[in-house]
Amino acid sequence: MSIEKFSLEKVLSVHRWTSTLFSFTMTRPAHFKFTAGQFARIGLKAGDDLVVRAYSIVSSPFDETLEFFSIVVPDGAFTSNLQHLQAGDELYLEKIPYGFLTLARYQLPLPQDLWLLGTGTGLAPFLSMLQDFETWHKYQQINLVYSVRTAAELAYAERIEEIAAVFGEGHQGFRFIPVITRDPHAPLHERLPALIGNGALEQAAGLALNPASSHVMLCGNPQMVEDTKEALKARGLTMNRRGEGNIAVENYW
Ligand code: NAP
Repeated sequence: MSIEKFSLEKVLSVHRWTSTLFSFTMTRPAHFKFTAGQFARIGLKAGDDLVVRAYSIVSSPFDETLEFFSIVVPDGAFTSNLQHLQAGDELYLEKIPYGFLTLARYQLPLPQDLWLLGTGTGLAPFLSMLQDFETWHKYQQINLVYSVRTAAELAYAERIEEIAAVFGEGHQGFRFIPVITRDPHAPLHERLPALIGNGALEQAAGLALNPASSHVMLCGNPQMVEDTKEALKARGLTMNRRGEGNIAVENYW
C-alpha cells in the first residue's frame, strides 16, 4: 500500500460507548470529498507496514471533521490497536472515499419512503445521510431501523433524536425503530428477516414495504444483509441495479 495515497490526520476526540464500541473524530483534509453513505480507508502504522481498514463515515459531507464508529474485533490486529486511540494521535486517511451505498444511486422507483436497516456499527452511513437536508426533502417517510444485541449497544440513540430534530425539523415522517435482539422484553427483539416476514417491522413503521415506492438500504453483519435481502425479495422487492430497484447493500466487515 503506497503511503502517498494517504494523508496523515490527527485524532480530535474519542468517545467510548461500551468496552467494545467507540467513536472517534479526526481532522478532515480539504481534498477529502465524499457522499453520505461512503466509506474511508484508515491506516495504522505497524512497524514498517501500514495496516488499512474500511470505515463508514458517520459525519456529514458538510462537516469540517470526520467521525467514525468502531467495534473492537476480538484478536483483530487493527481494532485492538485502534481501541487505545487518544486525542492527539495520528492516523492515515486514504485520499479518496469508496462505496456505492448512496441515495444518489436510486432513480426508480422515485424517492418516497426510505428504509435504513443497520446492525451494530453498520449504522454509520445512515447517520451521515440523515445529516443532509436533501435526504429529508426527498422522502415522505424515513424509517431508521437499528438492530443491536443489548440495550447498552444502542449507541447514538440520543444523537439520532437530535439529528432528527435539527435536520428533519417539521418532518412528520421519521420513525426511529430500535431492535434489541437479546432482550425478550424489548418491543422488537427478533432478527430483521423475521420482523419483515411476520409484518412486525411494517407495523412499527406504520407503513408497508412496497416495490413501487420503497428504497431499502442494508448495512452491517454480512449474514444479516444476506438473510434480509432474501426476506425483502420474498416480498417482491428487487435489488437496485443501474439505478432501478429497491434494495441497496453494504457489508460492513
Ligand atoms: P452482530 O453479531 O453483528 O449483531 C448486531 C445485530 O445484528 C444483533 O441484533 C444481531 O442479532 C443481528 N444479527 C446478527 N446476525 C444476523 C442475521 N443473520 N440476520 C439478522 N440479524 C442478525 O454484533 P456486533 O456486536 O455488531 O458484532 C459482533 C462481532 O462481529 C464482533 O465482535 C466482531 O467480531 C465482528 N465485527 C467485525 C467487524 C469488522 O470490521 N471486522 C465489524 C463489526 C463486527 P442476534 O443478537 O440475534 O445475533
